[in-house]
Amino acid sequence: MELDKAKAALKTYFGYDAFRPMQADIIHRLTTGSDALVLMPTGGGKSICYQIPGIILEGTCLVVSPLISLMKDQVEGLRANGVNASYLNSSLRGSEQQLVENEFLNGDLDLLYVSPEKLLSSDFFRMLRLTKINLFAIDEAHCISSWGHDFRPEYTRLGNLKTDFPDVPMVALTATADKVTRNDIRNQLGLSKAKSFIASFDRPNLFLEARPGQKRIEQIHTFLKGHPDQAGIIYCLSRKSTEDLADKLQARGYQAVAYHAGLSADTRNKVQEDFVNDRELIICATIAFGMGIDKSNVRWVIHYNLPKNLEGYYQEIGRSGRDGLPSDTLLFYSFRDFTVLKDILQQNGAKNTEVQLLKLDQMYQYATSSVCRRRILLNYFNELSTEDCGNCDVCINPPVRIDGTEIAQKALSAVARTRQQVGVNMLIDILRASGKRELLEKGYHNIKTYGAGRDLGFPEWRHYIEQILQMGLLELALDDHQKLRLTEASKKILFEGEAVSLVEWQKDGPKKQEKEAVSQTQSDELFERLRKLRLQLARQRGIPPYRVFSDATLRDMVEKRPVTDSEMQEVSGVGDRKLQLYGDVFQEEIKSYMLEKTKAGSLVKGGARLLSFEAFKSGKKVKEIAVERGVSESTVIGHLLQFYEKGDDVDLSLLIDKEAISAILKVLPELEKPYKPKEIFEALSGKYKYDQIRIALAYYYRELVGG
Ligand code: ADP
Ligand code: ZN
Repeated sequence: MELDKAKAALKTYFGYDAFRPMQADIIHRLTTGSDALVLMPTGGGKSICYQIPGIILEGTCLVVSPLISLMKDQVEGLRANGVNASYLNSSLRGSEQQLVENEFLNGDLDLLYVSPEKLLSSDFFRMLRLTKINLFAIDEAHCISSWGHDFRPEYTRLGNLKTDFPDVPMVALTATADKVTRNDIRNQLGLSKAKSFIASFDRPNLFLEARPGQKRIEQIHTFLKGHPDQAGIIYCLSRKSTEDLADKLQARGYQAVAYHAGLSADTRNKVQEDFVNDRELIICATIAFGMGIDKSNVRWVIHYNLPKNLEGYYQEIGRSGRDGLPSDTLLFYSFRDFTVLKDILQQNGAKNTEVQLLKLDQMYQYATSSVCRRRILLNYFNELSTEDCGNCDVCINPPVRIDGTEIAQKALSAVARTRQQVGVNMLIDILRASGKRELLEKGYHNIKTYGAGRDLGFPEWRHYIEQILQMGLLELALDDHQKLRLTEASKKILFEGEAVSLVEWQKDGPKKQEKEAVSQTQSDELFERLRKLRLQLARQRGIPPYRVFSDATLRDMVEKRPVTDSEMQEVSGVGDRKLQLYGDVFQEEIKSYMLEKTKAGSLVKGGARLLSFEAFKSGKKVKEIAVERGVSESTVIGHLLQFYEKGDDVDLSLLIDKEAISAILKVLPELEKPYKPKEIFEALSGKYKYDQIRIALAYYYRELVGG
């Protein structure tokens, strides 16, 4: 019963046809009065788990949320879907608070978002007793734990809720998975009986890629050319590098802005707002960016430098593709990044330096690994994964190993002959006989290995030396200008002839499958048109474009090409409110696109039936349409019936008279279901044509059987 209601609400308010795994179970539990602990990755669909109970149960669902910006975003999203939701926090003025409190007391709200401080303020706490609360949802529940990475002391006081309101069900939700935190959440919130729902942390729509950090700007430039007009974030390590990078990209004609904690609060807010509203598409940011925003259509994330650990990395790439559509992530790494970070950690001398060093090590191993990256990640997060994912650079372009003994010998011997006085770049110049002045001044052109590596390009050499460093065959002197030093292991290569295996250099990044050319261009074209329309509507209304429709919804529209209300309702993400607000404009755009294309002679999916339908609605007769379009009358009737069957306005009396329908339907009771036109035709001894029979059957199913 409740589940039927839940499904209906999912369709009506959110426009989705089915629950994701676990959502239905969680909702069932909460709507029947039990507690739950929900662990799902970002983008997993946590919110719906408490929003639907809030909507279908009598009373209000109280959502505790730590971030003011996120609260506002969620509430605006809900309202755009026609749900009665509000929020209370310190950003509201007194009179505004009063208004919301009245709504709450009148029982007008399905959901009320509050900050923990507000919830526990004595005035508000008293109000809780005066109205019906149907559910407590504790969002970002890991904030309650000092073991977590985002501890908020205010959260610890939420423990009283369960004691004070033992009959109100409670759900705690988080994207942080570790066990200690999980148990802490349970204990502190009094959720001993709560069932745990732990979803997979896999985000299969994210393409994972790591590349050596050479010529990063060049590489980013190429990457961005492949992602025109798409929003993304480039994470950098330092404030300064966010600004440098933004400048460099601007110099290449990109509209990129920097974001870091050193900017004024106003500037930071503006950058966020601009990003959310698609006014700025490329943000060069330190890790602080992205926490409080819920933008679903971030299409890519780049890490300009190696992150400190896999947790942070995963969280950051997780900000892309929340709508479930394919998104690209690219990580740059270098041995230098690694050693610099290591140095910083060691100098910080924090208590848990050992742990952090270990995490950094794992991060670097991930970046340089030659096994499926998703497997490494999932295993790291304690999810056993035994199959290659097929959606990472390693799976798509498995590294090829070559015998690198000679390459290594040349490099090591050059280091030895320069008396370990050169860094990586100078070493390569020597090997490639670059003839640079500095090199000649030092007399390096006289050593025996000068020019021994002319056959390889500069980037190739970097690629190999990177690996040689990783294997410990050379090391960088951190205290002496990053000069290359030989190690114990070097001797085996130089003097004992030990073999070295290296991953072959590849000029281009991994090639993802080329998409089908023609149909793809067409759908891209339509997608672009819908996206423009979305932007225009969003600007008019002063809301973020994804609030109108998500990218995923636009994609589904491109796929289904709805030209009537009933078809529009079948698009994922189009609920009642949005159908009412935007249904017509989007249908018009799709129609004009298809008509333009079809008239220009292109083959467009769904174009023919649309032309028939439009012509019919403009008053033309079936015969005329058939002649005009050079198709049979049956074809035209078939097109019209497609619309009719979906519930659209098609005046059947223009196609067939009433008597014919009754005569045809009269024979049905004698026949077996499902009714076949051929049998009806025979039962009527050929008195009515097939087209008439089809029309009568359509009428029968729509008007008499219903649905
Ligand atoms: P989380 O809070 O776990 O980060 P959200 O609740 O924001 O995730 O959901 C992520 C995206 O998935 C949103 O765009 C949401 O509308 C969509 N979504 C959630 N549940 C479903 C569903 N059952 N079918 C289709 N899309 C869904
Ligand atoms: Zn893989």
